[in-house]
Amino acid sequence: MDYIGQTDIVDGFRNGIKHDNLSHAFVLTGETGIGKKTLAHFIAKALLCTEKGIAQPPCGHCRACKSFDEMINPNFFLIRSETRNIVIKQIRELIEDISVRPLQGRKVYIIEDADKMTNQAQNCLLKTLEEPPAYATIILTTDKYEALLLTIRSRIVRINLKPCSINEMKLLLQKKGINFDGKEHLLYLSRGIPGKAIQLLADKNFEENREKTLNFVFNEDTSSKLDFNQYLSKNKNAFYTCIDILESIYRDTLLLSCSLEDGLINADKKDNILKYANKHSTVDITDKISMIEKVRSNMKRNMNYQLAVDMLTLEI
Ligand SMILES: [Zn+2]
Repeated sequence: MDYIGQTDIVDGFRNGIKHDNLSHAFVLTGETGIGKKTLAHFIAKALLCTEKGIAQPPCGHCRACKSFDEMINPNFFLIRSETRNIVIKQIRELIEDISVRPLQGRKVYIIEDADKMTNQAQNCLLKTLEEPPAYATIILTTDKYEALLLTIRSRIVRINLKPCSINEMKLLLQKKGINFDGKEHLLYLSRGIPGKAIQLLADKNFEENREKTLNFVFNEDTSSKLDFNQYLSKNKNAFYTCIDILESIYRDTLLLSCSLEDGLINADKKDNILKYANKHSTVDITDKISMIEKVRSNMKRNMNYQLAVDMLTLEI
């Protein structure tokens, strides 16, 4: 089956192979959960497939594809961190392997979470990145591109993954057999990041978090504020989900204030949001969104948790 989403990137790889000008080292970047590892493995399998080649999706039944699925393809080498770091020993094993010419076709190397490489490991990889053998392709993945040494970054082609469209998200979840009936709002809330959607769909507390947040916004009385305040105080794990939901409701309010319905995240709550929009000015709502952004950035700088909860629930 073909890859879902990231069509420009997949097409780029196919063209590179077709015209024989594919670079030898890449780094796939993008947010956590966006699908960097899945894409790296798809590209690797396509590069190794002996039946169809990268111009087509990997066939899935040739010996190369089957052995790839079983993780025993001799032309495929995967480095992932078993512990906190990727250490120099693992890179030395890669270098040893890459020097051995394959019996046929290519060899593909993936380094997952490449930012976990120690400085020594990165330095050790440098020479190979400078002059990889013609039969080798090296693919790194990372959430933290800036954590890679400049010397590494200057020798590899960066490919940044883009968020998926809603349609692609739906196809992807269907392919994985994940049911999202009646939870479309959750796909929108995931902002095109499949891993986030999967995580939210599996989160048993999601609906409760959403109910609490909706109640806080629409009821606007002191007891709802205190109720939400206490809920967040007790459930630190729910905090980021709740502020994402909160922000999505305010953004929907702004859209409906401008009579725009396309792109509503909480379309199932349209009537309530419309009522709310009629009671508040756009300036008022924009201020609330700014407050959320302020809390988000303060949290990154280790703001006291209770203070953040109070700002969001009592001052907003
Ligand atoms: Zn194949």
